[in-house]
Amino acid sequence: MKYVSTRNKTHQADFRTATLTGQPPDRGLYVPERVPGLNRDVLLSMRGWSKEEIAARVLSPYTTGSLPEEQLRKIISDAFNFEFPLVRISGSAYSLELFHGPTLAFKDVGARFMSRCLGYFAGQEQRQMTILVATSGDTGGAVAHAFAGVESVNVIILFPSGMVSPFQERQLCCPAANVTTLAVSGSFDDCQRMVKESFADTDLSRRLHLTSANSINVARWLPQQVYYFVAHSRWPETKPPDVVAVPSGNFGNLAAAILARRSGLPLKHLIAACNANDVFPQYLNGGAYAPRASIHTLSNAMDVGNPSNFDRILHFADSRRDTLKQFVSSVSISDDETEGVIRSTWKENRYLLDPHGAVGFAALSKHLEEHSGSSGYFLETAHPAKFSEVVERLTGVSNTAGPIMPQAGVLRTAISMVPDAERLREFLLDTSR
Ligand SMILES: *Cc1c(COP(=O)(O)O)cnc(C)c1O
Repeated sequence: MKYVSTRNKTHQADFRTATLTGQPPDRGLYVPERVPGLNRDVLLSMRGWSKEEIAARVLSPYTTGSLPEEQLRKIISDAFNFEFPLVRISGSAYSLELFHGPTLAFKDVGARFMSRCLGYFAGQEQRQMTILVATSGDTGGAVAHAFAGVESVNVIILFPSGMVSPFQERQLCCPAANVTTLAVSGSFDDCQRMVKESFADTDLSRRLHLTSANSINVARWLPQQVYYFVAHSRWPETKPPDVVAVPSGNFGNLAAAILARRSGLPLKHLIAACNANDVFPQYLNGGAYAPRASIHTLSNAMDVGNPSNFDRILHFADSRRDTLKQFVSSVSISDDETEGVIRSTWKENRYLLDPHGAVGFAALSKHLEEHSGSSGYFLETAHPAKFSEVVERLTGVSNTAGPIMPQAGVLRTAISMVPDAERLREFLLDTSR
């Protein structure tokens, strides 16, 4: 499979190069040159397959030429080592729970798959790669955990000191020798600026083989389509779901759903469920596409003002808003509505939502009310225990975290760092010697 840049089709790469470099030289996004189709018979027969078999069938066309089939299967069984249960909430509304991985968020799926691909490629080349990530909380934990112990890859995580929950900090300070966590005395924007300046520093970037681990990377993005196939193969009702609501921030998850649909999965209608950061709903409902600074909300992993996968979404709609609107709609859900949904869903259905899933469920419920007789599911992207303060305040349930708190293990503390890219450069060069 060849990948091309969304900006210029002559920038081509195979899966291996796209994974190692992250982004094409023109700073567009890699997309598969053509989308492999899966016919109805294959889709129907998936009902009897394990999720590993489904993943191998869906992903192998994307990795041929870069990963031997046997290696792909090994990576899949390592990466997809937790379930994606569909849980009925009420009527024909279901939750697709994606939070049963080690850091309790769906980002485990992509981060675990990517870490093993990168480890394999770096090992082949006998080079030591360095992953540099800025995190406001969730991504860093998933990346730290996924890369812990992966040979040939060092991970450096920057987070704003004092701005993540104690739970998140514990996940960030992962006790693995190849993971280093830096507590930056500044904001998340400072962390992101330091990371960007390091990537722009070609000398540093080349010496350390720097790469990123966000959903721009095909190895993190592509595996996310698998859970849509798994959900459809396990769908308990007689007719397929009419609608799927995707809580969205950088739109990696929605872009993966669109890709699955292109392959033939009958995803009739998709809802991009956003919080107050409503750049995408504004655009889809007729406004200009106007990226802007993010607004802080309860669903903070979706506080994105300039979604990084927007170009991928447009690409799969032939760059036409009208085409996109035929199968995607989008709503913005306020924090008040999010709180209301967490409260009422606990009260009426005894189901605990986290704030991100709550945005998805609110969007799904609205759609199902307006289209009677229809059915659907939303993605529950994080475990409520990750946001136990909010959940407890709204539902009174206090021990959400009880049995599933990350094991204490050998706790480490983060290294302090000032918000200065030059100091980060010195630190990186020192530690790489
Ligand atoms: C990252 C994240 C999202 C947003 O996913 P995108 O693919 O960036 O749209 C939603 N929920 C949670 C819990 C997340 O961590």
